[in-house]
Amino acid sequence: MENALSVGDGIYQIQVPITDNPLGHTLVYALESPGGLVLVDAGWHDDNAWNGLTSGLAAIGHSVADVEGVVLTHFHPDHSGLCGRVRDASGAWIAMHEADHDQFAQMSADRDADWMNAERQNMARAGADQAEQDAFVTAMGEEVHVGRDSAPDRLLADDESIALTGRSLRVVHTPGHTPGHVCFHLADADVMFTGDHVLQKTTPHVGNFVYPLEERDALAQFLDSLRRVQSMNVTRGLGAHGLPIDDVAGRAAGLIDHHEERLEHLHDNFGDDQITVWQVAERMKWYKPWAELSPMGKHMALSEAAAHLRHLVARDLVAPVPGPEPARFARK
Ligand SMILES: [Zn+2]
Ligand SMILES: [Zn+2]
Repeated sequence: MENALSVGDGIYQIQVPITDNPLGHTLVYALESPGGLVLVDAGWHDDNAWNGLTSGLAAIGHSVADVEGVVLTHFHPDHSGLCGRVRDASGAWIAMHEADHDQFAQMSADRDADWMNAERQNMARAGADQAEQDAFVTAMGEEVHVGRDSAPDRLLADDESIALTGRSLRVVHTPGHTPGHVCFHLADADVMFTGDHVLQKTTPHVGNFVYPLEERDALAQFLDSLRRVQSMNVTRGLGAHGLPIDDVAGRAAGLIDHHEERLEHLHDNFGDDQITVWQVAERMKWYKPWAELSPMGKHMALSEAAAHLRHLVARDLVAPVPGPEPARFARK
C-alpha cells in the first residue's frame, strides 16, 4: 500500500509506523530543494519503521541517500528514533533545538538500578503506592530505547533560519510538549510543520515529570507557545500525527480553551480536600477510567496532572500543604 503522498509545494508526507502504539504512525515530511531532501522528523526506531520510511521515499522517487538533513521537532522516540540510521545511510546532518538535546541524552542513557530507584522515589513523592511503583518499573524495563549514537550534531536556536538550497525553514521555538519543541515555518509555501505542538485532533501531552512540584511550568510554556503560533500569519499546519490543519490559529485557540477547562475542572474537584499529585491525577478525566489505564498510561496521566497542578500553583489558586511526604495540595 502506498504510504506517501504529495501535499504540494515540493512537500511529501510519509507515514512511518509506530509499533504497538495507538497513534499508529508518525508523519514524516520530506521537503524537496535543489540541494536534496530535508526530512522533518524521522520516525520510530525499528525495522518496521525503517521499511515504512524507505518505501515512502521510493514512492516519491527518492532514496534515503538523497537526504541532506533531518530537522527534529523534538526528542521523542517516535520523531527522533530513526535519525541516526538515516545519517548512517546518507551522511545527512541532524538538527534539534538545544533545549531538547539533554533530554535526548537522558532518554538514551541506560536505565540501571539507580535510575529505577530514583524513579521510584519520584513516584513515592507524588503519592504512588508500592504496587503502582512496581508496575511502572516493570513496564519501563520492557521498553526499548534509542541508541546514543544517533545524537543530533546541529543545535537550533529560536528564530534561526535554516538555509536549504533555494528554500529556508524558520525555527519557531514552542516549548511545552517538550522543553525544546520547535515548529518549522516554510514561508514560501505558507506552511508550518507543527510536530506535536498543534495536532489536528489529538491533544498533545504536556507533563511535568519531577514530583511533587517541578520548577518548570510546562503548561504555562505550552499555552504561551500556542499563543505565539496563534499570532503568526500561517494558514496551514502539517502535524506529526493526524490530518493537516486548515486553520492553525483556530486549532491553537481550541487547545488553549481545552486546557483552561481542564484547569477549572481540576480546581473544582479539589473541594476542601488535601490531596497528593497521584490523587489529582485520579480525579481528572482521561480517555478511559483511571483504573483501566496501563502503568505507562498512568505515568503519562500523572505527569499531565502535575503540569496542571503546577500551573494552578503558579496562578495562586492552589498551594502545597506543609507536612511529611508525599506532598499534599489544597485550594487557596
Ligand atoms: Zn511528542
Ligand atoms: Zn509524536
